[in-house]
Amino acid sequence: MKLRTIKDVDLKGKTTIVRVDYNVPMEGSIITDDTRIRESIPTINYLLGNGAKVILMSHLGRPKNGPEDDLRLNPVADKLSQIIGKPVIKVDDCVGPEVEHAVKALQSGQILMLENTRFHKEEEANDPEFAKKLASYADIFVSDGFGTVHRAHASTEGIAHHIPAYAGLLVEKEINALSPLLGTVEHPFVVLLGGAKIDTKIGVIKTYIKKANTILLGGGLANTFVYARGFDVGESLCEKDKMELAQELMIEAQENNCKLVTPGGAIVADEIGDDVITADMEITGVEGNMQMLDIGEKSTDKYIEILKGAKTIIWNGPVGLYEKEPFEKGTKRIAQALAKVEGKTYLGGGDTLDALKKFNIDPKSFTHVSTGGGAMLEFLEGIALPGIKVLEA
Ligand code: ADP
Ligand code: MG
Repeated sequence: MKLRTIKDVDLKGKTTIVRVDYNVPMEGSIITDDTRIRESIPTINYLLGNGAKVILMSHLGRPKNGPEDDLRLNPVADKLSQIIGKPVIKVDDCVGPEVEHAVKALQSGQILMLENTRFHKEEEANDPEFAKKLASYADIFVSDGFGTVHRAHASTEGIAHHIPAYAGLLVEKEINALSPLLGTVEHPFVVLLGGAKIDTKIGVIKTYIKKANTILLGGGLANTFVYARGFDVGESLCEKDKMELAQELMIEAQENNCKLVTPGGAIVADEIGDDVITADMEITGVEGNMQMLDIGEKSTDKYIEILKGAKTIIWNGPVGLYEKEPFEKGTKRIAQALAKVEGKTYLGGGDTLDALKKFNIDPKSFTHVSTGGGAMLEFLEGIALPGIKVLEA
């Protein structure tokens, strides 16, 4: 896949409008993880360094109906200014007179941040008039919010129909890092999937049944497969309506010589909490109001052994309810082991990255840590992402 990037264009004196993904985790007005802001710096500095004016736009959270004060991007603008060491001009809307005025006054080397694009319902509706308005502020559109390129929204896709569109350095880096996984990779090839629900991961399971030697399942997602194998799952998170689908996937895996592995044991508890009584038991013993909230110790050992022998590994989704200490061990041990394996390791997903942070694991220990969750998974399924399609050379 060949993309047009900002390196292909003369930026001097141009006004650029850049879609970044500043949908950062916040507690009140405190940003708890600024990775996404830091990851946008190379592109912004490149644009400024080459004589362009920079307008930034992003969404934050899920505003329901118009502006919400706690979803304004002001804390993000402050944080960016602090990290990049330059002033960031912030306006209180993403379209309208205040924006027009600020754009007119913008000088080369300056950064202007627009307000949360999702304060307008036209953003997610990919309204052409709204996209055109955003486009009217700049000469060039730069797509750099990899976490949102799987969405056809006005600021990610629609805008590209009105002004020339180029990939920023982060989008370029992600596509270059993930593209090899679409072709032939070194085997053994192991995919580890956890997380809460299967519906968002079905596509990846289907894709990798045909490519991987082994798919290791954990988390709530594995419970549905355990149930589909005929076991009692007690009160565990389980999508019983997806049982047939899970059975089909297991058959498909067999036909394709792919081992679809479910945990043989689980950490169970009757309730979720920070200091609840837990037991590590075989799946066959689960019953009543027990909940399987992490994979068991022996399963963790087995998964780690398999991962150690792999040449290529993709990981998305914690294998347990890692937010609570009694159920963090499987995810923690697997993450620690993955940081040391010899094979190439590709990770992504909001909670997966959050788990790394929680366990103090350096993202540099892996081949690639994606800033996209859904975007990474859809890209790996081979789906043409709307926000990438508009950048293809
Ligand atoms: P990611 O954001 O990395 O793609 P997901 O959003 O799919 O991951 O899933 C993460 C969530 O799954 C976490 O909140 C975690 O607590 C939950 N989870 C994992 N295992 C279980 C389980 N056994 N029971 C209930 N929830 C679980
Ligand atoms: Mg998540």
